[in-house]
Amino acid sequence: MAKIIYNTEVRKSGYEWVGYEVATERLEKWDPERSDMSKTARAGLLRSLKKAYPEELLLVPVDPSPTAQMTIKPMDTDTWISFYRVAEKTKVGTDNPLPDDEIRAELLKFFKKHGLGNSEMTEFSFMRRNLVLINDLFLARDEGNLEEVYRLLDEGGLEHKKFYFKDIENFYFNLQAKLTLNSEGRLDMTIECITFTDFLLYDFLFSKGVLQRWFTCKHCEEDFQWDRKKDYFSSKCKRRAAYERQLIKGRDK
Ligand SMILES: [Zn+2]
Repeated sequence: MAKIIYNTEVRKSGYEWVGYEVATERLEKWDPERSDMSKTARAGLLRSLKKAYPEELLLVPVDPSPTAQMTIKPMDTDTWISFYRVAEKTKVGTDNPLPDDEIRAELLKFFKKHGLGNSEMTEFSFMRRNLVLINDLFLARDEGNLEEVYRLLDEGGLEHKKFYFKDIENFYFNLQAKLTLNSEGRLDMTIECITFTDFLLYDFLFSKGVLQRWFTCKHCEEDFQWDRKKDYFSSKCKRRAAYERQLIKGRDK
């Protein structure tokens, strides 16, 4: 069983959009374990970006200190669906998208709920491209247009290429993973994502890709769709599972 993990900090004080200047200061506090040398290097990079993109805004925690109230948790499977909903609501994939400040407000709501990775401040223009990408990927898959899915993964519209194509339909990409032994002595593989974009794309690619949520029946292990959390596919499965629990109890006595 493989799990895709991206750890986020959900900060109680929330997040805000700021310019490079303020973002540089926040980053200092946010990431106290970084070496001085890498901090200086990054501050230099941010200053040069400020010159190149004076209008750019970045998302950072309101209170970046490591002692601020927060919950650290991995993003849930199918988080790409709520990100897709942001794209849908803001109409980024259409000719009439909402104004940028309204898109920023929706993104803020999303990240307030789902959190950001430690010191992963993110530029608005980059997040906007992520919204367009998930929108187009979902629509292409929904239409069964695989050619377009491949094209989107190849171009990505993102700064860093994630997928390397050997030919038109075969690609590879890097995964950082960890193996653990679970309680039944079986191997579990955890795929660790470094950035939100990695998580978004892997979550989408490894998911079943429908907007209703999928669950696996705890009794027969059949996959089924339901709009809210449900443990068993049918009431029959639920009864069988209860019956089996009774048998185990009896045996252990
Ligand atoms: Zn079942």
